[in-house]
Amino acid sequence: MAEEYPRNLTELETNFGTEEACRAYLARLRWPEGFRCPRCGGDRSWPVRGVLLECTACGCQTSVTAGTIFQDTRTPLPVWFRAMWWVSTQKNGASALGLQRVLGLKSYETAWAWLHKLRRAMVRPGRELLTGRIEVDECYVGGLEEGLPGRLNLEKALVVVAAQEDGPGIGRIRMRQIIDASAESLVPFVQDSVAPGNIIHTDGWLGYLPLEKKGYEHEVTFLRGSKKTALQLMPRVHRVIALLKRWLMGTHQGAVSRKHLDYYLDEFTFRFNRRRSRSRGKLFFRLVQQAVAVEPVPLDHILHPGAKPKAKPQSVVVT
Ligand SMILES: [Zn+2]
Repeated sequence: MAEEYPRNLTELETNFGTEEACRAYLARLRWPEGFRCPRCGGDRSWPVRGVLLECTACGCQTSVTAGTIFQDTRTPLPVWFRAMWWVSTQKNGASALGLQRVLGLKSYETAWAWLHKLRRAMVRPGRELLTGRIEVDECYVGGLEEGLPGRLNLEKALVVVAAQEDGPGIGRIRMRQIIDASAESLVPFVQDSVAPGNIIHTDGWLGYLPLEKKGYEHEVTFLRGSKKTALQLMPRVHRVIALLKRWLMGTHQGAVSRKHLDYYLDEFTFRFNRRRSRSRGKLFFRLVQQAVAVEPVPLDHILHPGAKPKAKPQSVVVT
């Protein structure tokens, strides 16, 4: 579908003030070519009991929110839409306290859980791999940060970052928390982030050595013996790391626990990769589009994250 999104708060409230309008929008984003039965792939349905759709071919009943992060929500969709608008339009990211205030939610925990649900929608299943020349380096986040006031409420966590070169500037980024700087941690990250055949620029750390065997062109800059610092030799990745630390300290006041760090990294990446987007409405569009493309996340899983949800399920059925 053509990218259709509200340009400002007034348009949001005018166009998405009712449950029906929100549902219709979700349906256009989820089934851009029209209804698809999750069980048999049929393309015809009739409405049943208001919000359900029954496949005319196999009789399976589903709804536009089934199998998405909105599944089983008791909150009216217009409130979700306002939350997504707010999250997309906060240039520096959204805090749970901010969301709680804006929506007038009774509990901080609810706002916190909503934000975490939305963060799951910030990574598009099957997003494309980076190409070109990519700087990759790892760094510690957490503990006492030099040059930053305060302290991250986070034991030190190791994060690996890939930053695409775009002339002297930075293109798109990817990042991940890793348990150590071994090849077993670093190489899969590169494989999940960058298409083979492209150039990976790293320091001389041994953990990056297998990259060449994996089909990458590996360019190594040795820091030892060089008068330049890591910051000068790999300026993009280090700039991203500095921005990430500032963001964790600023927007979230350092209140990020290590078990949830991955999802904050996803949010940072989502915002960073769209930082040049002229319209905030476009971010809203992407967020809603991805919200109907990722699996629902039970609260239990949000509080105790283990494995990340995988790609969109094709078989979730409401009966
Ligand atoms: Zn069917």
